[in-house]
Amino acid sequence: MRNLTEEDFKSGKVDLHIHSAYSDGKADFKEIIGNAKAKGYKLISITDHNTVEGHKLYKDNILIPGVEFDCWYGYVFIHLLAYGIDINSPALQPFFAKNEAETKDEFTRLFARRNVPKLIKAIHEAGGLAVLAHPACYWAFNLEGLVKKLISCGLDGIEVYYPYPRFRKIVKFHSSKDVKRIADKYPQLLQTGGTDFHGEKF
Ligand SMILES: [Zn+2]
Ligand SMILES: [Zn+2]
Repeated sequence: MRNLTEEDFKSGKVDLHIHSAYSDGKADFKEIIGNAKAKGYKLISITDHNTVEGHKLYKDNILIPGVEFDCWYGYVFIHLLAYGIDINSPALQPFFAKNEAETKDEFTRLFARRNVPKLIKAIHEAGGLAVLAHPACYWAFNLEGLVKKLISCGLDGIEVYYPYPRFRKIVKFHSSKDVKRIADKYPQLLQTGGTDFHGEKF
């Protein structure tokens, strides 16, 4: 994952942010993998909300095990992506959803109680990378300040390539340009991307 480039994300051959019916997406997990292969994707990650149930059943050489955690970080509600994790790692188990509502229901997910510094530590213990999803969506006046604090907690990357106009039509404090500028300022951060697909047919 470390050697992916801007071109990889923009070419449509890498998509590291996809949801299946194991959370709030509509598509079948296995079908997503099949369709991605048929379309010539070289790398994908299915990142369902708070669950790795799909990854327990299906593995593939183009598929990175991933998950998207809902968390409060201070007064800001954020989504933290984890990539390349050992899904059976004991460190991560307490952070996974306890029931279906915690994966599928946006309102229930707002009540998430996950300690972000501890979660990032657990992701690392599970051999994974912690990446801040769609940063322009957050209701944080000082986005760079938020990113800096997360870096001090061990954040590995930031999702730079994201279709903001298609998703999250509500008020945004920041633009994708802001995100790119911040990402470039902290070269230790991986710059990732994905479509946040929730549809029926990938
Ligand atoms: Zn998200
Ligand atoms: Zn998502």
